[in-house]
Amino acid sequence: MASPMVDLGDAQVLARRRLVADAFEPGGLLARNLPGFTARPSQKQMALAVFDAIVERSTLVAEAGTGTGKTFAYLVPSLLAGGKVLVSVGSKTLQDQIYDKDLRLVARAMQVDLEVALLKGRQNYVCLHRLERSTQQARLPTREAVIHLRQIQEFARTSASGDRAELSAVPETAAIWHDVTSTQDNCLGGECPRFDECFVYRARRRALAADIVVVNHHLFLADMVLRDDSFGELLPSVDTVVLDEAHHLPRTGAEFFGEGWSLAQVAELAGDTLAAGLHGARDGAAWADLTRAMEQASQAVRLALAQCGVEIGTRVALERMAGRADLASALGTLDLKAAGIEEALESNRGRDPDLDLVMPRLQRLRAQWDLWRKALAAEAAPDEDADVVRWVSVSTHGAQFQATPLSIADSFARARERAPQAWILTSATLTVAASFDAFIGEIGLAATTMRWDSPFDYSRQGLLYLPDPMPSPLSPQFAEQVADAAWPVIQASGGRAFVLCSTLRAVDRIAARLREKMAQGVETLELLTQGQGTRRNLLQAFRQSGRAVLVGSVSFWEGIDVRGQALSLVVIDKLPFAPPDDPLIEARLRRLRNQGRNPFTDYQLPAAVTLLKQGVGRLIRDERDRGVLMILDGRLLSKSYGKTVLASLPPFRITREQASACDFLTESGATNPGSSA
Ligand code: SF4
Repeated sequence: MASPMVDLGDAQVLARRRLVADAFEPGGLLARNLPGFTARPSQKQMALAVFDAIVERSTLVAEAGTGTGKTFAYLVPSLLAGGKVLVSVGSKTLQDQIYDKDLRLVARAMQVDLEVALLKGRQNYVCLHRLERSTQQARLPTREAVIHLRQIQEFARTSASGDRAELSAVPETAAIWHDVTSTQDNCLGGECPRFDECFVYRARRRALAADIVVVNHHLFLADMVLRDDSFGELLPSVDTVVLDEAHHLPRTGAEFFGEGWSLAQVAELAGDTLAAGLHGARDGAAWADLTRAMEQASQAVRLALAQCGVEIGTRVALERMAGRADLASALGTLDLKAAGIEEALESNRGRDPDLDLVMPRLQRLRAQWDLWRKALAAEAAPDEDADVVRWVSVSTHGAQFQATPLSIADSFARARERAPQAWILTSATLTVAASFDAFIGEIGLAATTMRWDSPFDYSRQGLLYLPDPMPSPLSPQFAEQVADAAWPVIQASGGRAFVLCSTLRAVDRIAARLREKMAQGVETLELLTQGQGTRRNLLQAFRQSGRAVLVGSVSFWEGIDVRGQALSLVVIDKLPFAPPDDPLIEARLRRLRNQGRNPFTDYQLPAAVTLLKQGVGRLIRDERDRGVLMILDGRLLSKSYGKTVLASLPPFRITREQASACDFLTESGATNPGSSA
């Protein structure tokens, strides 16, 4: 073990490593102090590998199958090795679970006293300064907004954290939150009159003082690229970085390292300029006229996009857009109106701190518009050597303009080199047929890789049903064929099924066919379809029903934990290959081809396998779970890559017989005691 960490000598390192190993033994501290703890060799091995990486300050990429208990496997060595730890996760669910539950359980079981902190993005905390301004301005559009504002005022007076998640009376989606939370752009920072009591900065100070800080990947990345004013402090201050749900990092990183702007930002800027202008420099300019002119120019950009043929809900690469000259001209007009505001801001400089803050935002937006106008004027052909892809997406009233890097490897490697730390990247889905090559290539880190299979007995607990014949995904009737083939198995299961689809369109068609069948059936099953309610409400209804079939697309493939009898069948329509005409995917594939690599094996297949493994992982959640996995994509058997896909899945027994699948479910229903988590 080279370079022992912090102030530990070799003897102490060995002693603590022994403590880590002992903790995971059948009679160890975890077994003695945590009811229900089961000692698993793979968990102990992972914990020791994490400990070694911490001591050596090296990089470990670890895949641990479902049920290994990877959270404890990195928390225990992190606690025992000492030093400060940053844990970053991909989802809010896991962030809350680690902070509210796992960390406390582990600390208590290991009899360790430590300070833990949960740090969220600034938009999660009430901004006292903006709350005060909103109260004074009293220009709220609805009675509901007035009520919400009062509730937030009361909350801000009494809350210790200012975390809006604690105020359930005001819905997450309420428009008022925009007025009473801050962004990096409109926060006054050290100049703020409420700085000492500010919830955002208090949370950051607590995080800097804590032994373990739990954040999400967005915040981790913001800190890593110094995206926010006082960020960049946290990452260098820690000895160990744990990145859980690391399979999210390539995608989240690409979004994060990109640059962009939106029409919503223009509207926010206009609103903030008007409010601050009227508050601090009412006589300084015709603020209402200036901001209205900019908003009208912004709407003209939205119209130009519609004329370019960009459909709502799609992403289009810049070079594929028609009518680029009209869009460039609309951006030119927008810039002209913004220039008028910039002049007014300049002549009123120093009169109001919030008004002064608008200037750098406006200048950043104008710089972006300049880049986009130049790109629009360039040749309408893909730039083969470009490192970024420019694309536009359109919603009903808004639009997003984004430049996304095609690789995050260099940014990651640079951040990794900045400080002598241990980095642990872990997830249940990092490999393709046991190879880490694709993931390591994407994140660009030199790392030790290790993997542990799930401790579950998949050959006994589950059955993979590949119907005979398998429908072809190329068939125009594929969705209906999926529903027809799945229906007898769904009936045998008595519902208790997830149907995971690769597109929203497939969700609608498969759900429609299942609805018809349910209407004709004798038994009453409940159909729940994505879009009927929030994900949380749908899952709650699913758990409560006991006879439900939930049809959903990508957002239901991961982060869902339904144990026992409540979920006994997972149906997957097809291998979830990303659409090759998506601008990002298209550019990545082109770049790989230009590098002489195989875009399919190096990118498309690994990405599809990662998502497929997540979907499959919904079925068996603990040692008592039993269930059937049904995949209906004929390419699994007809294409050579099907073998790679099958080799990447847990070792289920495979059947082609519908009767076997139905029998397995009937027996499971009789033998599985069931539980729901
Ligand atoms: S410092 Fe920023 S976030 Fe905090 S109260 Fe002031 S403006 Fe709001």
